[in-house]
Amino acid sequence: MAEPLRIFIVEDERRIARFLQIELEHEGYKTAVESNGTRAFERIIQEKYDLVLLDLMLPGMDGMTICRKVREVSQIPIIMLTAKDDVEDKVNGLDNGADDYLTKPFAIQELLARIRNVMRRRAETDTPEGEKLQVRDLVMYPSRYEVQVKGQEVQLTKKEYSLLEYLLRNKRTVLTRDQILQEVWGYDYAGDTNVVDVYIRYLRAKIDDPFQEKFIYTVRGVGYAIKD
Ligand code: CA
Repeated sequence: MAEPLRIFIVEDERRIARFLQIELEHEGYKTAVESNGTRAFERIIQEKYDLVLLDLMLPGMDGMTICRKVREVSQIPIIMLTAKDDVEDKVNGLDNGADDYLTKPFAIQELLARIRNVMRRRAETDTPEGEKLQVRDLVMYPSRYEVQVKGQEVQLTKKEYSLLEYLLRNKRTVLTRDQILQEVWGYDYAGDTNVVDVYIRYLRAKIDDPFQEKFIYTVRGVGYAIKD
């Protein structure tokens, strides 16, 4: 039998946390509960879970911040749970890297379906060759340090590769020049943000132009995004 999935429940309402725990364990999942946002963030990073159910309003650190900070270091599946049926929250949650979103109160069957869905989507992107990042015909295999466009391998420099990886890991998210600079060049980089534009040009010359495709989009006055 396969190992049971370990689900981390981040919820400060004891009653809801307990209900989720009972229902999920009844379904055969293993669970752990945390009610404090700051501790939850640390535990997501340090302990080994397969999926996080993340409440939005929490003492310590709020769910949105947790999600954003976790995404800087981990691709663990996250389903956000919130009491607010707010489109803005939903958009923010997904922008911050959540895999899915559920508004309380919800039926347990709905949650179970979402969990199966998220895990199935993840399984499809995990190949035997390890992780695979993809938009349309552009594929990156981080374990092999390899990039292909339309089945053809593309040679990138280390910086171009890091830049592309960052865009792919945040696909559909518009990244500002400052964010890119911090992530790809490091916090102590002293140069100006023009270097980002220069490297985006290098990257386009290798992945967009030769294949007559547009993978990297410019959002005027804001930054760049890679999209399906
Ligand atoms: Ca709460």
